[in-house]
Amino acid sequence: WSNETIAVVTGSNRGIGFEIAHQLASHGLTVVLTSRETRVGEEATKIMQEKGLNVVFHQLDIVDPVSVETFSDWIKENYGGLDILINNAGVNFNFGTDNSVEYAETVIQTNYFGTKSMTKAMIPLMRPSPFGARIVNVTSRLGRLNGRRNRIANVSLRQQLEDVDSLSEELIDSTVNSFLEQVKNGTWESGGWPQVFTDYSLSKLAANAYTRLMARILSDQPEGHKIYMNCYCPGWVKTAMTDWAGHTSPEVAADTAVWLALTSDQIVSALKLDTTDPIPSPW
Ligand code: NDP
Repeated sequence: WSNETIAVVTGSNRGIGFEIAHQLASHGLTVVLTSRETRVGEEATKIMQEKGLNVVFHQLDIVDPVSVETFSDWIKENYGGLDILINNAGVNFNFGTDNSVEYAETVIQTNYFGTKSMTKAMIPLMRPSPFGARIVNVTSRLGRLNGRRNRIANVSLRQQLEDVDSLSEELIDSTVNSFLEQVKNGTWESGGWPQVFTDYSLSKLAANAYTRLMARILSDQPEGHKIYMNCYCPGWVKTAMTDWAGHTSPEVAADTAVWLALTSDQIVSALKLDTTDPIPSPW
């Protein structure tokens, strides 16, 4: 890896994304720090540039198709493509007391559809490399299929989502869309959705499933053009999202993303996302 290796990190003006950008740049890569708000993104970039790191800023709102397209054009024009994409941007309103249709829509739109839209826009721009290009999605253990309490009640739907050979984008889309329908018509509480952080958990479940689906599809890429896609849970992290209530620092939360982005292709290609969760969990 060198300063000719281009890494893009979504939502990197603060929190875990900022740390991922910082650590990747500290390894000598060129990092594109992105933020939906230009002013805060430029300020975050300046902090890293003052440390001598190779970090550049570009505006990016992952739910705005115009912003995603403008960003794609800029990456292509300035670097000819990218080597690493970290889909970190995310939202969670479940820490407040309010539930609303708007919150549920924003969470699903950002954490699932926004991640998907960035992935689709960047894949054609990923540059050939003997180590394989990398996509890392920052998701959550709340999005596991078989948590003890926090899971979809419909066993048949769970089995379909679990079976990576028959998994499809249509199935994942229809799952989140049927949840949103029920939120809009007020019937979601009896719909058998995850019991804790419902919209957030479902958005991350969809992002996990999409990661598995794309990892399978991308495994057909020819040698020299491999793209490895993985996801991970950063733990319960002290950031704005948790109102700084977590017990893991953003620095520690970022290091798995950096490892997945930089570790050898032999290791990263052998990883399998285990959604059956053998680890006892409070959820
Ligand atoms: P923060 O709230 O600190 O950071 C979230 C980042 O995402 C911000 O930069 C935010 O931008 C950005 N963002 C939100 N919506 C968009 C959008 N539409 N387009 C572009 N950027 C956007 O949270 P964390 O750092 O804690 O979270 C980072 C990731 O880690 C998220 O995906 C989250 O779900 C995941 N995660 C976090 C956990 C935790 O305990 N903190 C646990 C498990 C997963 P802005 O500043 O403009 O709001």
